[in-house]
Amino acid sequence: MSYINKPTTQPTTRPASQNGGWGHRGSQITTTANAVIERNSNAQSGSRSEFVPLRFYVKAGTSVDLVILDTSMEAGFAFYEHNLIDQDGRYSIFEPCLKDLGVTCPMCVQGNSSYVLFLTCIALKPYTSKKGVVIPHSKMLLPIRITQFDVIRQLEESAKNEGKSLRGMVLSMKRSKTDSKAPRIGEPAIGKGGRVYEIIDEDEIISLFGHDPVTSQDGNIVYKTENEDTRPYDYEKIFPRPDVTAILQRHGKGGDIKIEEEEVASPATEEKASRVLEMLLQKRKAASKEAYTPAPIDDEEIPF
Ligand SMILES: [Zn+2]
Repeated sequence: MSYINKPTTQPTTRPASQNGGWGHRGSQITTTANAVIERNSNAQSGSRSEFVPLRFYVKAGTSVDLVILDTSMEAGFAFYEHNLIDQDGRYSIFEPCLKDLGVTCPMCVQGNSSYVLFLTCIALKPYTSKKGVVIPHSKMLLPIRITQFDVIRQLEESAKNEGKSLRGMVLSMKRSKTDSKAPRIGEPAIGKGGRVYEIIDEDEIISLFGHDPVTSQDGNIVYKTENEDTRPYDYEKIFPRPDVTAILQRHGKGGDIKIEEEEVASPATEEKASRVLEMLLQKRKAASKEAYTPAPIDDEEIPF
């Protein structure tokens, strides 16, 4: 399997030309101009050219609600990844495994990489920005490890059976306080009504999370297009082909890095996944019963 699961070259949208295809026409001019401006502004500020989104994370013993923006698991982006320990002893460093890039991966000597699927979500967790503004929710990457694939797949199946998709699925992700092996993104918790998820429709997604374009003051740089936060990340843009040389320079020596062992799907995880499905099925059965069985009429409750 290759690291990039989709073609890396974008199809050219150049209009038909009669001059041998030299120069730019149409929207390509604006696209190129924006890219040049962005590149220049990055070069001036000395910042990294790639934008790395934050990863969804739940503090142990708490829960955070999220809304998935991708339509399916297969719409996401997946690769093998190493999770390394930083100077403070926290597993906060993430590096792609080099084994799919035709290189002997120096990090694999220390421990296996994990196969991780990235979806995009909106974390419904307010935070206060540096300027003191309360931001009620934020778009983030949702890193799903292979041990949780079954649960997400079953939720996707369940949504499909309702004629819907993963997009708009609201989950309450709860992380165990005591289980140190519990996934950092938490696990879908059963809600008050016994349901694991709700699905909000497209109009609700736009009305809740839609926004105007975000540009620089002079309008020359478009940071965000209209309603960009309601769409999944452009994965090929945020996950460019890794710079093998740079990674080898950072981690090529070996011996000075600790690596978390790969999580393997255990029977306990599978059991948990099937329990979630069972609850969903029971809930659906109960819901359909409600829909087709008239409730017994209690005379006293009739208000007239
Ligand atoms: Zn590796």
